[in-house]
Amino acid sequence: MSLSGKTAVVTGSTSGIGLGIARSLAGAGADVVLNSFTNSEADHALAQELSTEFGVQVTYAQADMSDAAACRSLIEGQARCDILVNNAGIQHVAPIEDFPIDKWNAIIAINLSSAFHTTAAALPKMRAAGWGRVINISSAHGLTASPFKSAYIAAKHGVIGLTKTTALETAQEAITANAICPGYVLTPLVEAQIPDTMEKYNMGREEVIKKVMLERQPSREFATVEQLGGTVVFLSSPSADQITGTTISVDGGWTAL
Ligand code: NAD
Repeated sequence: MSLSGKTAVVTGSTSGIGLGIARSLAGAGADVVLNSFTNSEADHALAQELSTEFGVQVTYAQADMSDAAACRSLIEGQARCDILVNNAGIQHVAPIEDFPIDKWNAIIAINLSSAFHTTAAALPKMRAAGWGRVINISSAHGLTASPFKSAYIAAKHGVIGLTKTTALETAQEAITANAICPGYVLTPLVEAQIPDTMEKYNMGREEVIKKVMLERQPSREFATVEQLGGTVVFLSSPSADQITGTTISVDGGWTAL
């Protein structure tokens, strides 16, 4: 399937799942806008690398997804935004009574509000083009909960609500909105949770991976960034024209439990 002629904006795409999704979209022929909050030589070099590898246009746009105006400018600054992937996300692990207020606010802003702002800016561009895809990266934690992740779980449940509303507001146009709910994927975000989780449960690294993380994932395997990229490409294909307002779990059976 070719996404040639389409432009995809993927938020938080210099590492992990976002980068995997950007690579899959470029591999399917889409031009891609990479994003993060930094503005380093490495960010621009990464865009150049992908452009050379896949023979499509790849640019880097700095924008802090915790800043509403920056979210909107990121999209408004693009000539097109046919596929919007809201992927930027952060995590913090603490019991509710100790959860730092600044972490709560940052997680709600980056993991939830950013998707509202980018969607608001992208819909007029999609309507002008007569086609669009909004793909929000939620989580198995958008459908179910775990202790110590109150802000993340509230934000990821919220993303699914936002996705459903976006789908209803665009239902009679050639625009769809869906959420992907990954289980555990071994990315820098998950790596960063391991030390805290080791401390909370008083376990070693391998024990945390097997007994806490993959214990919830019946396949006992991490999902991969390539599988998530493939799901985004599928949702961008004509086969998915009537798939809107729903969630696709890529979680090794976690939410079947
Ligand atoms: P990651 O830490 O590897 O990547 C996160 C990306 O977001 C990075 O590119 C980072 O630069 C960017 N980012 C962070 N703060 C930002 C900000 N303020 N503005 C712009 N960009 C910012 O994480 P990941 O594991 O690849 O997670 C990507 C998404 O997938 C997140 O929304 C996460 O919640 C979700 N997710 C991850 C897993 C998992 O197991 N890794 C599971 C379910 C859902």
